Amino acid sequence: MSEILIKIDSDRSISDVFQDNCAALEANGFQPVTTHSLKDSKVVFVLGGPGSGKGTQCKRIVERYKVTHFSAGDLLRAEVASGSEKGKELEETMKEGKLVPLEVTLGLIEDAMKRSGDSPSFLIDGFPREINQGLEFERLITPCCVVLSYECSEEVMMQRPLERGKTSERADDNEETIKKRFHTFKESMMPVLNYYDKEGKLRKINDGL
Ligand code: UDP
Ligand code: MG
Repeated sequence: MSEILIKIDSDRSISDVFQDNCAALEANGFQPVTTHSLKDSKVVFVLGGPGSGKGTQCKRIVERYKVTHFSAGDLLRAEVASGSEKGKELEETMKEGKLVPLEVTLGLIEDAMKRSGDSPSFLIDGFPREINQGLEFERLITPCCVVLSYECSEEVMMQRPLERGKTSERADDNEETIKKRFHTFKESMMPVLNYYDKEGKLRKINDGL
């Protein structure tokens, strides 16, 4: 039986005291966060143009399956909302419908995954936007197991974000920025889809053609 009152001599170095804390917690079944390696997790990339329904579908998937959902765009918008210096630069890039540097998005996603406790599986929506992003994610974190790709007509990809823009706070849901987002999407997404198709991981889903 483990003891209830554990006396720890705190007149020692921080790391020595910390070690005693850990021993006491682990004797009571606490698991260190680091035992969960992201390498063993299952990752699904959810891709599609602006307004193709990534967020909407991910919400439904989360209701049915044990999976943690992160939207790359939402993580970036949270960074902007934090008012940090980094956030200010990101805001400009996002208003232009361009892609923010890979290390920023990747850093935010990796942090979010690590902070998710011991979730065994993840839906990453809106990432990778470029093949290099996908390759780097897979090299540093883990290979994805499947890629869901929503296919949508250009008309729908314009209409849905415009509709959402009436009520959402998103600075990029206006006609001018949507056009730019669409352009970026067309330019950089083909190599991503081709790569995962060749890997046999791509699942195309018609979502409003
Ligand atoms: N973005 C980015 N890298 C990412 C994801 C998003 O640079 O991996 C930026 C990009 O400027 C994009 C914006 O965030 O236009 C909004 O992304 P989100 O996925 O939320 O919106 P979408 O255009 O797919 O509807
Ligand atoms: Mg989204």
